[in-house]
Amino acid sequence: MGIVIDNLTVSYQRRPAVHHLNMDFGDGEMWAIFGPNGAGKSTLLKAMMGLLQADTGQVLWQGLQRRDIAYLPQQSDIDRSQPMTVFELAAMGLWYEIGFFGRVNARQRERVQRALARVDMGDFAERQIAHLSNGQFQRVLFARMLAQDARVLLLDEPFNAVDAQTTYALLEVLRRCNQEGQAVIAVLHDYEQVRAYFPNTVLVAREKIAAGTTEMVLVDDLLARANHAMQQHERSDWCAA
Ligand code: ADP
Ligand code: MG
Repeated sequence: MGIVIDNLTVSYQRRPAVHHLNMDFGDGEMWAIFGPNGAGKSTLLKAMMGLLQADTGQVLWQGLQRRDIAYLPQQSDIDRSQPMTVFELAAMGLWYEIGFFGRVNARQRERVQRALARVDMGDFAERQIAHLSNGQFQRVLFARMLAQDARVLLLDEPFNAVDAQTTYALLEVLRRCNQEGQAVIAVLHDYEQVRAYFPNTVLVAREKIAAGTTEMVLVDDLLARANHAMQQHERSDWCAA
């Protein structure tokens, strides 16, 4: 079980954002994806979700189906001004089970409530999402992800515009998820958060610079190599593949 990335290249207007990348995310592992701005981190996550077409190579879901992977994109897919309660938003995590218009049964309702409780939003179920702070809103998006009961959690810079207290509460939630067997793969840009919470890191700069234990990968030499690779990529004209 896991996600295998095999020689993956993904481009926009023929400029590769991910270039001949190989990677193996194993069952139940916890990985940070780290790298400079524009390094292709969001592109990699979207390709892992099957949302972008590959120029070369492929993403293999081994023993996983679409519903086994929960994805929290960098830009929220939710319009926060629309009328919707916290419960309704969190219950969208059940989409794969019940469809858009299905009814939530008692056990599913309990699961959504439990997901809200895990992010300390249990008392807010009936609140309108328009009335939430950024941090509270992010907690509810986490609850939606938890309600899905996925085997793999994919998160793209989940702590942007989120206060420090919420960030650390949600990092603890991710740690627990991982301890309970879920794989966690998150794009992060905060070095300290990665070092404190993520045993493994893959460092990218369009191509893969290094992957392994965070201790081995987040070192000056490799970070410098990533920055250098980005500068090279910004300058160069790309071949078609
Ligand atoms: P990161 O998440 O690491 O900051 P992205 O994957 O968002 O990087 O982007 C990688 C590169 O691809 C950047 O140069 C970015 O400008 C470009 N890019 C991303 N999305 C698009 C798009 N929809 N159309 C054209 N170029 C894009
Ligand atoms: Mg990004």
